[in-house]
Amino acid sequence: MSRLFPRTALWSRRLRAALAVLATAVAMCGVVLAATSTPSSAATCNGYVGLTFDDGPTGNTSALLNVLRNNGVRATMFNVGQNVQNNQSAAQAQVAAGMWVANHSWNHAHMTSMSQSQMQSDLSQTSSAIQAATGSRPVLFRPPYGETNSTLQSVASSLGMRQVIWDVDSQDWNGASVSQIVANASRLQAGQVILMHDGIQNTRDAIGQIVANLTSRNLCPGMISPSTGRAVAPDGTTPPTTSPPTSPPPSGGTCTATATTPNVWGDRYNTSVTVSGASTWTVVVAITSPQRVSTIWNGTATWDSSGTIMTMRSNGSGNTFGFTTMTNGNSSARPQIRSCTSG
Ligand SMILES: [Zn+2]
Repeated sequence: MSRLFPRTALWSRRLRAALAVLATAVAMCGVVLAATSTPSSAATCNGYVGLTFDDGPTGNTSALLNVLRNNGVRATMFNVGQNVQNNQSAAQAQVAAGMWVANHSWNHAHMTSMSQSQMQSDLSQTSSAIQAATGSRPVLFRPPYGETNSTLQSVASSLGMRQVIWDVDSQDWNGASVSQIVANASRLQAGQVILMHDGIQNTRDAIGQIVANLTSRNLCPGMISPSTGRAVAPDGTTPPTTSPPTSPPPSGGTCTATATTPNVWGDRYNTSVTVSGASTWTVVVAITSPQRVSTIWNGTATWDSSGTIMTMRSNGSGNTFGFTTMTNGNSSARPQIRSCTSG
């Protein structure tokens, strides 16, 4: 998806991401750290978020739908019109899997350079292709690259569609790792919408941990309201189409990670994390920069490029792992557990 690189918005998104990290760091000072993941069917929904997947349908849409079904979640698919026309059965499969299908332009052009009549033709052709494939005309529209103006918004509105951009960018289009995608999604708050893409392996691999993190925060995937553009409860009473669970679940099963800080020194401290509910596990931990982990034990760690998101996997040393963090001048921040998944 790098060919769809939204260049102009990159720096403002980076700034927003930096501010979100700062807000997280402030919020987590001195809190007791625990993350629990439970099956989504048992989730308590104190709020809803919108999972969105752009640029499909693709040759990998069925793989994406399988992952979503296995996690019991529904999402909004911003489809490209010519992809729908070329793969009507994939669009039908999206609807059959409980997804909401939306308009993402005919061929992913930079629409703000179009005339009003070109915009009208592009969006109308796309909605017609979606209606021909699925039987329903879309009520949501996302401009390619998030690039829009007042003319495009009014054209979408005249065709019965609400424009929806996003609150959180997963960065999956930009080569983000699974743990980076999971960490980005962990910033989602109630009502917000996250940008992801159809056809990216890391995105599919991140969904189990994303759902576990949402569940630990009593957030549930929902639909995007065409009147407000915010995530709300799924409408109607139709539950997501679920396939029988395969055994054992490959990932995303139940586990709980609880962190304590047994030793604090002037320039560093130790964190001990105990996992229950799984014998093999993956725990994602966020560190606050400029703090840095200097030593780990009883687990195998990988890091994201920022050096602040650690993914710790069991290595046969039991269910308690630990690490030493150098404070580097920030003595108050403590690690935050982002998710705990089995496998
Ligand atoms: Zn797109």
